[in-house]
Amino acid sequence: MPERTIEAEVAVVGGGIAGLSAATSLAASGADVVVLEARDRVGGRTWNTEIGGEANELGGQWVAPYQSAMHELLEELGIELFPSFREGSHTYIDPAGRSHHYEGHDAPLGDAAEKAFGAADAKLDSMAKELDPEAPWEHPDARGLDEITFESWLQAEVGDETARDLMRSWLAGGFLAKPAHTFSLLQGLWMISGAGGTFELFEPEQCLAFRVVGGSQVISLRMAELLGDRVVLNAPVRDVRWSEGSVEVQADGVTAKARSGILAVPPNLTNAIRFEPVLPAWRMRMAQAMSQGSINKVLAVYETPFWRDEGLSGQGFAPYELVRELYDNSPPSASAGVLTTFLAGENAERAGRLSAADRRREVLDGMAKYVGRRAAEPVDYIETDWSGQEWTRGAYGTSFGPGGLTRFGDDLRRPVGPINWACTDIAGVGHIHMEGAIRSGRLAAAACLKAVAPR
Ligand code: FAD
Repeated sequence: MPERTIEAEVAVVGGGIAGLSAATSLAASGADVVVLEARDRVGGRTWNTEIGGEANELGGQWVAPYQSAMHELLEELGIELFPSFREGSHTYIDPAGRSHHYEGHDAPLGDAAEKAFGAADAKLDSMAKELDPEAPWEHPDARGLDEITFESWLQAEVGDETARDLMRSWLAGGFLAKPAHTFSLLQGLWMISGAGGTFELFEPEQCLAFRVVGGSQVISLRMAELLGDRVVLNAPVRDVRWSEGSVEVQADGVTAKARSGILAVPPNLTNAIRFEPVLPAWRMRMAQAMSQGSINKVLAVYETPFWRDEGLSGQGFAPYELVRELYDNSPPSASAGVLTTFLAGENAERAGRLSAADRRREVLDGMAKYVGRRAAEPVDYIETDWSGQEWTRGAYGTSFGPGGLTRFGDDLRRPVGPINWACTDIAGVGHIHMEGAIRSGRLAAAACLKAVAPR
């Protein structure tokens, strides 16, 4: 492919929501910007597919009411939301593998577990409220909170085993996508604090409240459309040469020369880029200390959402099962039935070592426990294991092991010469959600604007 050179004021690496939000905000301020994206599509961890003639999602998708930057962006782009389907009875599968259908908010855990869960939930909330989501490492007891694992906190503070299992499954499985003994209490609290400040906001009614009409990738597609030919696809960046006031970003087939740069890729992927001069030692150590969680998202497709006819919502939880959670992800017109689950953390690691056929059988048998045997016979079955995606290498996001947040937190957004950083993984509010990607992109854009302002 012939090499071409693009001159711009700001070069953005990564066309996910963060990079495109940064570029959109820079362009709106009159800056000349170019976005280099490795994949043949924009959207990164959001990725549409089509089911029943309508958009569906292989990656991130749900929008919560608290996510103000997201709501603002959707309005600017003329994109609408629709409520996620959750009418009817939900399912809870107990430690003995028995399925219970229940109405309303609270799963029938049993009195002792419910009480213990409520108490633990309140403790986490009050600790999370003490944190500044933009700088959790500045909490007066940050070091203490960062040296104990979430697992050891559960063992010490939550007396009931079912409550512990549920909480472990929720925060470790549902959000960090890593085992509870591999991240600190502080890292877990950051997740809660960044997602609106209470454990309650992790509930499906909040966190999974809305879906995006046209599928969530449409957010990036629309931003890219407005940026036009300033977004270059199939341009994996291999080298970044930088000095004070200039960056030269070299991708396959194209080089961008700019005064300032935004690296809008998750921290685990900056390790795959060669910097010249090499990045400062603190930045190299920080990126090495962060790793992605493990997520395999599954969509099982049926002719119709048959569970709805049986009074079931398709939503449920089972902390002890491979299919730990289940949701109705059918298109808004119900032109097909879609159930989705996420194999997360240790479940993803174990399932990833099974043959594709065995994994499919285990997953579908697991889904059948929620909504009946018909779930085991889908017309289509789609898996996306994000750890195997070259330009992501895990999901939902990156996090530190114990001690990492207090050692490196302050370095997360620290610029290096003309290079600023963006991506949801380093965001405060909306951390590891699309909301965080938008906010971090805008923050990096503001920092770059200062740098490229006429002197
Ligand atoms: P990314 O989307 O990772 O974007 C980074 C971009 O950089 C990518 O496009 C990548 O291709 C590109 N890139 C990487 N390396 C290079 C390189 N060397 N050169 C050029 N380009 C490069 N969030 C929610 O809010 N709600 C949800 O329901 C939700 N569910 C999720 C479910 C799944 C299965 C997954 C995977 C994520 C989910 N998320 C959810 C998280 C959400 O998708 C992410 O927080 C968000 O999309 C991250 O955006 P980003 O721009 O920060 O990073």
